[in-house]
Amino acid sequence: MRLKTKVVLIIAGLLLGVSITGSIINYLKNVRDTQAQLQNTSLPLSVDNIYTEIQQRMIEPLLVSSLMSHDTFLRDWLLEGETDMNGIVRYLTEIQQKYDIFTTFLVSDKTKNYYHARGLIDVVNKENSADAWYFRFMAQPEPYEINLDYNANLSDSLIMFINYKVMNYKNEIIGATGVGVKIMNIETMLNSFKTKYKYDVYFVSEKGEITLFAKGLNKRGNIDTIEGLKEIKESVFKGEKSQFEYKGKEGEYLLNTKYIEKLKLHLFVEINKKEYIGDLKKTFYVNLSISLLVTLLVTLIIIYTINIYQNQLVQLANEDALTGLANRRKFNEQFEKRYKLYKKGVNRLTLLLIDIDDFKEVNDTFGHLVGDDTLMRVAEILRTELRVSDIIARWGGEEFALLLVDVPSQNALEIAQKICHAIREDALLQEILQQKLTVSIGLGELTSLESQDGLVHKVDQALYEAKKAGKDQVIVA
Ligand code: GH3
Ligand code: MG
Ligand code: MG
Repeated sequence: MRLKTKVVLIIAGLLLGVSITGSIINYLKNVRDTQAQLQNTSLPLSVDNIYTEIQQRMIEPLLVSSLMSHDTFLRDWLLEGETDMNGIVRYLTEIQQKYDIFTTFLVSDKTKNYYHARGLIDVVNKENSADAWYFRFMAQPEPYEINLDYNANLSDSLIMFINYKVMNYKNEIIGATGVGVKIMNIETMLNSFKTKYKYDVYFVSEKGEITLFAKGLNKRGNIDTIEGLKEIKESVFKGEKSQFEYKGKEGEYLLNTKYIEKLKLHLFVEINKKEYIGDLKKTFYVNLSISLLVTLLVTLIIIYTINIYQNQLVQLANEDALTGLANRRKFNEQFEKRYKLYKKGVNRLTLLLIDIDDFKEVNDTFGHLVGDDTLMRVAEILRTELRVSDIIARWGGEEFALLLVDVPSQNALEIAQKICHAIREDALLQEILQQKLTVSIGLGELTSLESQDGLVHKVDQALYEAKKAGKDQVIVA
């Protein structure tokens, strides 16, 4: 593998590694932070808010029921034979209006009459399933109960009844009284927690029954039968802690609980992890895409920069800085290639060595800068005189080498003479030097028995001959 490819791969790999690791670490941290924030702040805050709301909505009716059950008027009214219908109607209506309660009631244990603000509306009957609550309640030792019920007599909405036992002065049961409050508002509140925060809020009785919940809740019945909840039930009911994490049928949950003593209900507020993991995953993918894009861009910039420097290095290694022609190293490289092709019989090769006559004088008379300008101009002329396929280089000092490919010897001589002529007659050089500049050229064609060095030596010899013969001429080796 090339060094450049290796370097680019290593850098890209490192960048990629760093950005992917960074995104993953960031994602895991976000999950951890979000869960901690939910468990320590958001869920407990919701629990407290709901608790406060419940207190406002439920505790007051509970107190009213308690007051009613202890009211001497009500107790005396039952004990005195339930005669004054107007009196009880006034009493129940008064309480209903004063506390803005949906319904108030009184049941006599003696007559089983069910009194309401509108008067006597029913007689509770053991055989009637709608009245089962009364007999069940009477059989319980607790002084009160909270009961969620539909009551077709009253309305179609869910009503929360708070039933209180009424005792005579010897502490014997003589009936039940209480209030019913519509819990539609609480339902709305529970629903809003779901839509606003994606929290599920529900209440669990001491027996484990889910009693009050939003319609969207996907759990019903006793938590003994619900995967994940049944395992933590004991811990919740013992009140050992209030934060839980459990794995249910539909995923993993974060749960916060609180026992509401007055209602004998456990409040459950939970969130399914997938509700927020999805968002965090989206952020993760966005971060990762941006990182990958940046990595790609940086890699492209690195490749681009390396290419620029590499090209510059190649140029420096192959080019003569003054004239822009190939240098001797590059020339030899090309010569070698052509020489191999020659050996295969592909092409013929002719070498020209061109040396400026009396260049030392140019330097001595006009200085090195003019000498440089002269060299540049000669290079320019050579370039314009030659074909693309010819190889031209600065051989050293004021000498140039020229390799003609597949040029018949007569033509090669003509080219050499043309070069002599072009330089001698160049107006620009005459302007610079105030006189004509001439060159001597040695020319020779490669023969089958010759090596590269042999050809160079032969042509150098011819050049020497040209100098000796008075310069400004071409000698063919
Ligand atoms: P001859 O006709 O026998 O070739 O004589 P010459 O003066 O051209 O040859 P000589 O080898 O005596 O001198 C070459 C001069 O070229 C000497 C050197 O200082 C000069 N020279 C070589 N390279 C450069 C260059 O890059 N810039 C300049 N200005 N002069 C250079
Ligand atoms: Mg020379
Ligand atoms: Mg010279």
